[in-house]
Amino acid sequence: MKPSASTERSGWRPADRTALRKNGEFVSSVSIDELVARAREGRARAVAILLSLVENAHPRLPELAQALTPYTGNSRIIGLTGPPGVGKSTLTSLLVGALRSQGKRVGVLAIDPSSPFTGGALLGDRIRMIEHVTDPGVFIRSMATRGHLGGLSWSTPQAVRVLDVCFDVVLVETVGVGQSEIDVVRLADTTVVLLAPGLGDAVQAAKAGVLEIADCFVVNKSERDGADAVVHDLKQMIAFGRNGLPGPLWRQPVVRTSAVRRDGAEELLAALDSHYDWLTTRGLLIPRRIERAEREIEAITMRNLQTEISHLDGGEHIARLAREIVDRLKDPYAAAQELIAAISA
Ligand code: GDP
Repeated sequence: MKPSASTERSGWRPADRTALRKNGEFVSSVSIDELVARAREGRARAVAILLSLVENAHPRLPELAQALTPYTGNSRIIGLTGPPGVGKSTLTSLLVGALRSQGKRVGVLAIDPSSPFTGGALLGDRIRMIEHVTDPGVFIRSMATRGHLGGLSWSTPQAVRVLDVCFDVVLVETVGVGQSEIDVVRLADTTVVLLAPGLGDAVQAAKAGVLEIADCFVVNKSERDGADAVVHDLKQMIAFGRNGLPGPLWRQPVVRTSAVRRDGAEELLAALDSHYDWLTTRGLLIPRRIERAEREIEAITMRNLQTEISHLDGGEHIARLAREIVDRLKDPYAAAQELIAAISA
């Protein structure tokens, strides 16, 4: 559908996103292709609208995914994770500055799996990124995903896809190093795990499984006492962890940064580049992305199945089967089979 003349003339008004939320029909006045084209030109409002479609699980998401597909895969996706307070947003902001001075356009997605989903960007705590808010080459969006239908698993990759088509580099920052964060981090081509002296040592990080997911370690707050010990422990652990691992090995670099002193961004970028080169020269980037796409398909399939189940007889079908289980008329496996058959019918 062509954009209406009035939309073309007036451009995107500040109220557009509100209109989108109140009325899912708003977006039908502009074609998704047109929105994608505007977003690719770097028009922040179009990017914001596309991300809102993802956050709101808009019925036109399949159409959006289709429109994005020809343009995806050109940007580098970098994940950053680490415990709260380690300096992720300060370092992300520093990294954005360093990438901007290389002329790269940067999209930042800050994921907070522990906050309730509010349907909007919560930039209050991203105040450290404020220096970039007026830069048209930078787009920053927070996504709080707890309680969001199906959570992180399907919405985050779709949000990353939107930024992928619009920016040269996408930084995905997540809080913590628990399972949900690991899932998010697996979205990235390169994953950076941040540690800092006094904030959970390297041994704890290893316990949380981050050694397996990290492509690069950052010891932030490196101007503080104790940074040397963290670096030392990490390096030992990396050397130890490599033993017996199958496949081509990448020795995770350990980069020291002091984000508040604006130290270390160049070294970190160099480490990220060498990881990217390693992935591409060994033909490992595509397998990594295939693995990622597999998880995306699974997440979307699961979500669609859940939706179908909740719509079967208005949710009555599963309730009836559950009752039959409690009344010992049926076992849960038979009930599950029946449900699958009902969906496929
Ligand atoms: P996040 O929760 O991981 O995003 O951490 P923030 O970026 O919000 O930083 C938490 C606190 O640590 C803030 O007060 C920062 O100013 C401070 N901080 C960040 N980087 C450094 C650093 O390199 N050295 C020191 N001393 N403090 C830092």
